[in-house]
Amino acid sequence: MPAPRRTLFVTTALPYANGPFHIGHIMEYIQADIWVRFQRMQGHEVHFVCADDAHGAPIMLKAEAEGVTPRELVARVAATRPKHLDGFHIGFDHWHSTDSPENVELSRDVYRRLRARGLVYGKPVEQFYDPVKAMFLPDRYIKGTCPNCGAKDQYGDACENCSSTYQPTDLIDPYSTLTGARPELRTSEHLFFRLSAPEVVAFLRRWTAEPSPGRALQPEVLNKVREWLGGDEVASKLTDWDISRDAPYFGIPIPDAPGKYFYVWLDAPIGYLASLKAHLAARRTDFAAFLQDPHVEQYHFIGKDIIYHHLLFWPAMLKFAGAPYKTPDNVFVHGFITFLNEKMSKSRGTGISPDVYLDLGMNPEWLRYYLAAKLNDRVEDLDFNPDDFVARVNSDLVGKYVNIASRAATFVARHFGGELSTRVPEAGRVADRAGSTSIAWGARDSIAEAYASREFGRAMREIMRIADRINERFDEAKPWELAKDPASRERLHDVCSDAINAFRALTYYLAPVLPATAGKVAKLLGLRLPLRWSDVEQLSDRIQPYEHLMTRIDPKQMDVLIAPPAPAGPATTAAAAAAPAAPDATISIDDFTKVELRIARIVAAEHVEGADKLLKLTLDVGEGRHRTVFAGIKSAYDPATLVGRLTPMVANLAPRKMKFGLSEGMVLAASGDGPGIFLLAPDAGAQPGMRVK
Ligand SMILES: [Zn+2]
Repeated sequence: MPAPRRTLFVTTALPYANGPFHIGHIMEYIQADIWVRFQRMQGHEVHFVCADDAHGAPIMLKAEAEGVTPRELVARVAATRPKHLDGFHIGFDHWHSTDSPENVELSRDVYRRLRARGLVYGKPVEQFYDPVKAMFLPDRYIKGTCPNCGAKDQYGDACENCSSTYQPTDLIDPYSTLTGARPELRTSEHLFFRLSAPEVVAFLRRWTAEPSPGRALQPEVLNKVREWLGGDEVASKLTDWDISRDAPYFGIPIPDAPGKYFYVWLDAPIGYLASLKAHLAARRTDFAAFLQDPHVEQYHFIGKDIIYHHLLFWPAMLKFAGAPYKTPDNVFVHGFITFLNEKMSKSRGTGISPDVYLDLGMNPEWLRYYLAAKLNDRVEDLDFNPDDFVARVNSDLVGKYVNIASRAATFVARHFGGELSTRVPEAGRVADRAGSTSIAWGARDSIAEAYASREFGRAMREIMRIADRINERFDEAKPWELAKDPASRERLHDVCSDAINAFRALTYYLAPVLPATAGKVAKLLGLRLPLRWSDVEQLSDRIQPYEHLMTRIDPKQMDVLIAPPAPAGPATTAAAAAAPAAPDATISIDDFTKVELRIARIVAAEHVEGADKLLKLTLDVGEGRHRTVFAGIKSAYDPATLVGRLTPMVANLAPRKMKFGLSEGMVLAASGDGPGIFLLAPDAGAQPGMRVK
């Protein structure tokens, strides 16, 4: 029975508009985009919007330092957005800015309503002021000597040397990082939102317990907010929230307070509504009527660092502003993305850049699939491991999923002119031999349930288990033998058609993650667009001439993707090596002779501390010195068995600095879809240093 049609308003957190996206943004957008695409496949109406978070002191000061206006800076950053959003198939319906007429209007409206309810008041605040710059200083622009350990040049809130935390006023010899001037304490009237008011705390306790009927916060999130909110016996720790900043500031002027602006964190979340409003206006839909429709559900995807803002300030502002504003139906919180279990760091050159990924021509669906395979409904960090990335994408997407179509399509094209048999074995007809198509259909509801609850990893595992079974059944049927026997023609047709229709079902299941591939398969199998979950249990009766659906990840691209940025020569070499070769392109003999292959003797082989896949090889290439090469063959070889062996190597590969040392060349090994790595060896008589031609 189809579920009733829902209307969903979905957002991701607004990125701060002082720079291009990093991989953490892309992960969040992909997570939300997969969920949105899944909901659309259910036939639900989704409004998926985001915006640049444009205001605040950091943008004002950065623009000033670069000699542009804040609006020019924000516009320049905004111009970088489409490359990444389009590049990773992230399908927002609308992208807006908090520096927009809609946001000015809505922020002032929310503020006036809160003030009218007695929830806003003014209070003098003593704060550091830079007399040279003539502005109050945010904490991050004040440094000084740590009052605890005496370390110099520590920030105004915490010491990086001894980890103690304190107030900026506790610093010894404080100075402004903007001018170096000694800041003065000055007093200014600030506006506060009464977050600690009893009715606000009572509302937040109710809302966090059940944000909308039948829905619950993630357990980790609920625990976190309970630390702040307390409960029946425990007092709330909430304090009132400072929502104003003094000029000069890049933000929205507060209507009744000259020289004062809304703190950026007040108008940023209202930017969700500003973006929705602009999006609805383009569709000639009334904003207030839309929000007041009891059938509209509102969801926000955010990272764990902004729980406080989205689980306390935001619902409280919306609740007490009153209709047409509505509180979120839920807030979905994710963890951070790490690189080899460490925080990504631009300065240390660790991590991956979405820009480099796209510039290398890497398939965005590889990343979408990898993230999907690791995402769940919890607030856990997700680790990007380059070896795991290559292995999962190559083995799951290419080796399992695409493999089904590429193998079966060949037989159908050659023997049946692309016609598919629709004699598909029904589930249950022969209890243990149900057709592959029936097996695939049987998972429809459980995969849908996993997507709906953001358990994407569970959905991917189930899909790949089915792909394994389809491949196994295909192998067991031995179509290559059936094809030799005219009496088995009908059986061959059924086996291949069944595999292709099972692949068809898997394509629907993967479509939220692989929208571009699903589009190609739709053409191949004549699928009705847009793809709907309700069409899963249908059969195709024809397949168009098979075209390549997806290539494997080229390890050379990975080398560049994860290499620390280097200003000089080596990076150029690596980038040239990584330019993806056209599949099946031929090369000239001259191209081949550029590769200097030589025989090497393995003089020593050893494990590398901290490396999962690598062995360190010491090689004699007959040049009077030894070379070190790191080879990804640990899974296949015990180092002791390698010593003394001969093997060909690429001797003129540019040396590459790796985490574990310099690698001066590459040994050659064979590998296929399955496990196993096979080092090559010359026949007896070859000597170290001999050229391989
Ligand atoms: Zn200290």
